[in-house]
Amino acid sequence: MTDRKAFIYGINGPVVTVKNAPWLMMKEMVFVGEERLIGEVIAIHGDSTIIQVYEETSGVKIGEPVETTGAPMSVTLGPGLIGNIFDGIERPLRTIKDMSGAFISRGLRPDAVDMDKTWEVKITAKQGEEVTACAVIGEIQETSIIVNKVMLPPDVSGTIEEIVSSGSYTCRDTICKVKTADGEIKDVKLVQEWPIRTPRPNLKREPISVPLVTGQRVIDILFPLAKGGTAAIPGGFGTGKTMTQHQLAKWSDADIIIYIGCGERGNEMTQVLEDFSGLTDPKSGQPLMNRTLLIANTSNMPVAAREASIYTGITLAEYYRDMGYHVAIMADSTSRWAEALREISGRLEEMPAEEGFPAYLPSRLSEFYERAGYVKTLNGNEGSVTLIGAVSPQGGDFSEPVTQNTKRFTRCFWGLDKSLAYARHYPAINWLTSYSEYTDDLAPWYNENVSEGFLPARNEIVRILREESSLMDIVKLIGADVLPEDQKLVLEIARVIRIGILQQNAYHMNDTYVPLSKQFMMIKVVLYLYEKCRKLVAEESIPVSLIRESGIFETVIKIKYDIENDKLEKFDDIFEKIDELEF
Ligand code: ADP
Ligand code: MG
Repeated sequence: MTDRKAFIYGINGPVVTVKNAPWLMMKEMVFVGEERLIGEVIAIHGDSTIIQVYEETSGVKIGEPVETTGAPMSVTLGPGLIGNIFDGIERPLRTIKDMSGAFISRGLRPDAVDMDKTWEVKITAKQGEEVTACAVIGEIQETSIIVNKVMLPPDVSGTIEEIVSSGSYTCRDTICKVKTADGEIKDVKLVQEWPIRTPRPNLKREPISVPLVTGQRVIDILFPLAKGGTAAIPGGFGTGKTMTQHQLAKWSDADIIIYIGCGERGNEMTQVLEDFSGLTDPKSGQPLMNRTLLIANTSNMPVAAREASIYTGITLAEYYRDMGYHVAIMADSTSRWAEALREISGRLEEMPAEEGFPAYLPSRLSEFYERAGYVKTLNGNEGSVTLIGAVSPQGGDFSEPVTQNTKRFTRCFWGLDKSLAYARHYPAINWLTSYSEYTDDLAPWYNENVSEGFLPARNEIVRILREESSLMDIVKLIGADVLPEDQKLVLEIARVIRIGILQQNAYHMNDTYVPLSKQFMMIKVVLYLYEKCRKLVAEESIPVSLIRESGIFETVIKIKYDIENDKLEKFDDIFEKIDELEF
């Protein structure tokens, strides 16, 4: 072998150039400088190789060495990931902190999982068995909620030559030897590596058919997300993007949550850790962190690692998907990720496109959202990856490129509205401009699992809100007094819907999360009230102002606080009250 020595020729922020090192491959991971900072080859032009460095490069000098690893930038996948917090290139932040104190020192690369921890492994495959790629050969209780399926890597299949018996093993142990079709023997361990920029393969995409139930009414009722689906949450500063992402991470019915704090304030991640540690998962009653994995590349951390963080997150998600889990990823915020892309592109002196973003911004966004899906995995399981990206356009202007391109590649759009947030109507999701393209796909599921009445009731709610909006155009010009009584009633019922149903208080015990069964009862009761009032107005000529004096509208608005999630029988009283309305 020739002497493979490369040296730094140029440094520009996180971008380092090396000359005459043809052995360095695209996407290869390298060690940069005396401190062995972690980097990745991102471009090769003639005899120049361009590397982006995932750590601060200040103090690195021309002439320092660059080491090849011969392998693409990858993450380690194995038991012990859940409940942890990693940086954008999967370095465990708690371990790093123990190693280096409050400030992260450079050049540290501790293992993502504890390689010496012993796990109780239940072996489920036998010697001589034919095994496909990703075949499950054992099980580990990773946390109180999650069983880690020990799988072959996606690029290994064949016959099991040798396999250990059930017992205690560490990630260093070889669990099984597989003889591949061309006679090669592959060692299989509890851990495997996978390159972050290559999607883990699956057998096929399945149609979207199951909602991701979030417990947030404006989402579940008006703009539902599906397991395996994609959603965008665009909104200006302070409109509630982070809060919405936190609510979804806490309450949605995914099996596993991967929360990526990407370029936002560091204290928000600390808050996630604190908040989540005290909460239990509504489905299992177990600590929420036992199904959660955090990736933090906050605004004070290196920009290139922020670019990598979303790929690290999605690769981890695909690993758990392949075990047959439903994984949901929240990325807050994809705008900060796009800005990292822009910064690096600028350093490379690439031709900028719209607003200085590189011309490949749309294709990168599309490749990212493309990795969402409900799939049949290589081992025959079904699993899904759901992607929810926050977008933070400057000044809340949705016409900018990141929002517009994200809109092209996502099928749910939850547009946060400055004026709603200002009026403290939270979640500030604008019900007139937001949409979900999943409602029809999910219809059979609602009919079977909630009620055949759910979608018709939901559509009636949408209709009333639209009618309110067009009536408001008139009201703005000439006031509400001139409207006929039946239209005044529409305004009143729409108000009940907005305040009683769409507004939801994340800080209220009964209101922070609401099961679909209660959500359905809530819309039913509002429509029942509407029906009754319509009769009173039409048949008995009762003015809406008189009905209002009865206090019935306020009673219905307060249901969200007054009726606990597990006391749905209390709705009987409300229906009775409506029946008894008399004037
Ligand atoms: P962004 O991430 O868009 O800048 P945040 O998510 O930090 O905005 O929200 C700003 C503030 O709005 C929060 O601190 C909180 O007080 C309020 N807020 C947002 N959503 C809700 C909600 N669902 N319930 C109650 N308060 C909310
Ligand atoms: Mg935020």
